[in-house]
Amino acid sequence: MGKAGELLSVGQGQEIVLRHGRPLPPEVVPLTSSSLGLVLAEDVASDLDMPPYDKALMDGYAVRAADLAGGQAELEVVEEIMAGHTPARPVGAGQAARIMTGAPIPSGADAVVAVERTRLLEATRVRIEVGPPKPGQHILRRGAETRKGEVVFTAGTVLRPQEFGVLATVGRTAVQARPAPVVALMTTGDEVVEASQQPGPGQIRNGNSPMLAAQIVRAGGVPRYLGIARDLVESLRRLIAEGLRSPMLVLSGGVSAGLADLVPGVLRDSGVEPHFHKVAMKPGKPIFFGTRGETLVFGLPGNPVSSFACFELFVRPAIRRMRGHADAGPKWVDATLAENFSYPTDRPTYHPAWLDWSESGWRVRAVPWFGSADLRGLTRANSLVLLEAGSRQYTAGESRPVLKIEE
Ligand code: AMP
Ligand code: MG
Repeated sequence: MGKAGELLSVGQGQEIVLRHGRPLPPEVVPLTSSSLGLVLAEDVASDLDMPPYDKALMDGYAVRAADLAGGQAELEVVEEIMAGHTPARPVGAGQAARIMTGAPIPSGADAVVAVERTRLLEATRVRIEVGPPKPGQHILRRGAETRKGEVVFTAGTVLRPQEFGVLATVGRTAVQARPAPVVALMTTGDEVVEASQQPGPGQIRNGNSPMLAAQIVRAGGVPRYLGIARDLVESLRRLIAEGLRSPMLVLSGGVSAGLADLVPGVLRDSGVEPHFHKVAMKPGKPIFFGTRGETLVFGLPGNPVSSFACFELFVRPAIRRMRGHADAGPKWVDATLAENFSYPTDRPTYHPAWLDWSESGWRVRAVPWFGSADLRGLTRANSLVLLEAGSRQYTAGESRPVLKIEE
């Protein structure tokens, strides 16, 4: 923990979080859509040559290039070879075989002439209407893509659709990959009721849990929602104990300096070792990070925009680290301010903004926003633009770092 009263920078906080987060142990996962985006935890070698035979890349005629070099342009057609069938006879001098894309090249032939460049004179005679082909034209040689035994993917590869395709091609239906972490999620507050309820006097609906659950999914985690704890030690202790059974626990509310902000104390009493409790940022500042064993624990501020921003800056990178991604993020882009702007602030501020791509690169515009409780302001944003502490006047055209928020 830093000295009393000393605020960590966001970068320092992120570094502490990533130091404690570890990739989850690999599991065998099937190559189904639920494995999309997981990180491979083994090297994968091909069990065959790809392609497994010399393969035609065009519909046309398999020919002997040497036959056409002297200007002879009429050949005898000896066979038709469909994809999925093997040639029955060799192509001899003066001969050709009609061949379909993907079919094996017959022996004797060393080039393919596209069907559009030929004319069939009679059932078994074809005229080649272009100049002589180069040997190897429109043929993909056996093993040209991959040799048997060659490593096609190393551990750390992210499983995208194209990786699925190659894995299937080399005969894999399951691989060793790091699983998506289960993230326990709870909110706190005597005033908070679920969305299905009509709030009574002094009550508000729980917007944070559905928002954070969606952020967990988007970051690649699996949310496990525990419910709302009252601002009572017993109530908090019970849900926290439940949450600590997962590799990650995210709480919202109860982490600042109010009389009902019991979360850090109860976490400590539950065996959670605190690593930091305040970070120099807005929205946010009170954000608790601790660990118990391998479980990472985040206490996010209750104000919705603070919760959101703290999640993107600290929790998302931790989830990505557990998934085994080399780049835990968050990812920044430099964007040009579209208009003059000023926002006096005492801490580095992550201001909701609209980012778009223009002819001259990324361009960003701060959106109207009333502070950390203004979640609707955030719905008009697709990014957070970073502003410095102080009362600096920003001018149109200057460059600022921007955190993209994915859809
Ligand atoms: P806290 O961090 O508990 O002091 O809460 C700060 C502010 O966020 C208060 O106005 C709370 O009412 C509000 N808040 C806390 N939890 C939630 C929640 N789950 N959904 C929406 N607002 C919340
Ligand atoms: Mg509270």
